[in-house]
Amino acid sequence: MTHTHVAGSIHADATAAGPQWLNRPTDVNELDPALWSASVERVDGGEVSVAGLGVKEIAEEVGTPAYVVDEADFRARAAAFREAFAGWQVYYAGKSFLTRSVARWIREEDLYLDVCSGGELTVALAGGMDPARIGLHGNNKSVDELALALSKGVGRIIVDSLDEIDRIEQLCAANGWRARVMVRVTTGVEAHTHEYIATAHEDQKFGFSITNGQAMVAMVRCHYSEHMDLLGIHSHIGSQIFDTHGFEVAARRTMKLLAQFAAATGTELPELDLGGGFGIAYTHADTPATPDALATSLREIVEHEARGYNIAIPQISIEPGRAISGPTTMALYTVGTVKVVDIDGGQNRVYVSVDGGMSDNIRPALYAAEYSAAVVSRASRAEPVLCRVVGKHCEGGDILVRDVFLPADIAPGDLLAVPASGAYSRAMASNYNMLTKPPVVAVRDGELTTLLRRESLEDLMSLDVGN
Ligand SMILES: *Cc1c(COP(=O)(O)O)cnc(C)c1O
Repeated sequence: MTHTHVAGSIHADATAAGPQWLNRPTDVNELDPALWSASVERVDGGEVSVAGLGVKEIAEEVGTPAYVVDEADFRARAAAFREAFAGWQVYYAGKSFLTRSVARWIREEDLYLDVCSGGELTVALAGGMDPARIGLHGNNKSVDELALALSKGVGRIIVDSLDEIDRIEQLCAANGWRARVMVRVTTGVEAHTHEYIATAHEDQKFGFSITNGQAMVAMVRCHYSEHMDLLGIHSHIGSQIFDTHGFEVAARRTMKLLAQFAAATGTELPELDLGGGFGIAYTHADTPATPDALATSLREIVEHEARGYNIAIPQISIEPGRAISGPTTMALYTVGTVKVVDIDGGQNRVYVSVDGGMSDNIRPALYAAEYSAAVVSRASRAEPVLCRVVGKHCEGGDILVRDVFLPADIAPGDLLAVPASGAYSRAMASNYNMLTKPPVVAVRDGELTTLLRRESLEDLMSLDVGN
């Protein structure tokens, strides 16, 4: 055993028992189907496969770290939202994970697509998305980004400031374009996981406040603009949300605003977007609703509010990102070192270091996000032992999975996978410590396709043009 002391806050709050929500598994080899994509299974001999392809073969072919997408699972999740919300429009939030192939899957599954930069818009168009089915978000869209969107004819631009309205009008006037816009409003609802706050929580950069009248001012400006068609309003209340109370309050406040706008102008706006943020299972403690359950409850909420304000039910859209991309993908790493460290109270903590880290998944460091993990190259008969999975960066906070039970015989060379890694991981990747960003591969019917190749040192050095 190695006896090394760690410094900093990890040391202070260390408890080798793990958090209360984490159960010691009876079988350390078991894969909880709530966390892994549909085709993932442990086959004879103990190795894990995705869509019929073994993880060892994947690792041999593309190396580790790598992100492995279960393509059929991705398409099935997109289709489940489309079907559950039939009659509504489902915009996949591309910021959660987008490549040309992903944009093609979204097109083939008949969804709409949200982007929030010129870069994401370029990828979406390269994937063959019909511009009319794309929405452009962002609180500070550049003139170039707006011009790209308007010249391509995107279906809607979600406007977020008076400066942006000025810019759109100037671009339209100069080029003879017309903009289809929605006004992003803040409803005073902020939701995260099981809690939501519905006070006047509006101290944030996004949107126009309903409470202080700014939303109405922006709507009136867009409505009477010579260059714009105001489609409606947009509200996004947060992310990783598990219940619909926050949506209920947001729907009430937005429908009330639509009714007030109709009373003031005589126009019932045709569209309302309720945003995304539907939660997924990162660990067994998370219990997300199915798209069907979400759809039933959101439909009831909207119908109820429309009756209450005596307005027609507008065309509604929603914007799931992680709920489509998140559960489809595992991050595949190779274990490099296993170190047992003394912590307070005479206890130990097992640090398992892998060949990626905060550069390919910043969420644990950024949001204290929880994940799970499993050894996937083999089954083990060893006891489950509480471990901390860490990356290879020069940061104490470079943690991938804070607490997880792994087999006590875990050793260098084992492949370790982190499920539910499809959203905001590779999409948020950086080159910290000059690590090259990992590839993303899709597996379907036993066949592997590369969506994003691994970055090379040449790629990195080609940017370094100094002398
Ligand atoms: C991030 C974002 C989403 C998607 O959030 P998820 O948690 O991935 O579902 C949807 N709409 C807007 C406006 C967003 O900013």
